[in-house]
Amino acid sequence: MGYTGAVTDYLVRMRYDVPSLEIREKGNWRRWWHKAIPVFMTLVGLVAPKFEDWFYENTVTTLGDTIYLPLGHDDGVKYFSKNFQRYGLLRHEAVHLRDWFANPVWFPFSYTLVLPAVWTTRFKWELRGYAQNMIVEMEETGFVQYATVNWICDNLGTSAYLWAHTSPRRIIESIRDQILDKKISGEYPDFEITKET
Ligand SMILES: [Zn+2]
Repeated sequence: MGYTGAVTDYLVRMRYDVPSLEIREKGNWRRWWHKAIPVFMTLVGLVAPKFEDWFYENTVTTLGDTIYLPLGHDDGVKYFSKNFQRYGLLRHEAVHLRDWFANPVWFPFSYTLVLPAVWTTRFKWELRGYAQNMIVEMEETGFVQYATVNWICDNLGTSAYLWAHTSPRRIIESIRDQILDKKISGEYPDFEITKET
């Protein structure tokens, strides 16, 4: 039902580009260095227990060629097919996966420069991901609700991404305008993101 066909097709194409792609449940860590995540989250949990719970229960995390689903989920087709928002989430994670493989050293290095700042490279990578959430909404409904902009601002401007950006709204609105004008579209668009955007 819903987006099963679109998700299945998309995963087939992703596996063509990245044959080692796997979708797993958080906790079922695939590679030794992925186990740094629970160690890091335990430390974060000492000061922000809600953040740790939220990370495990509500977020999808992509590490290299592995997409981790929230606890209780290990079926990618089922998870991402639920509605267009979930399908948009798959397209978001796919951008991270492609950006990672296009920049195998720079992506993980720059993404994890975690100091809160007005501008972090993590913010740029995430904007490329969140553009997909808006693009899928545009494809499915012909519009991008302002609620979606608010949701992205809430995510990117707060502790959820360790304050990737302190005031992201203007930049996100600009990307939304370009999506509404169909200047930005498709699964892996190349678009400029500058501090002045
Ligand atoms: Zn992301």
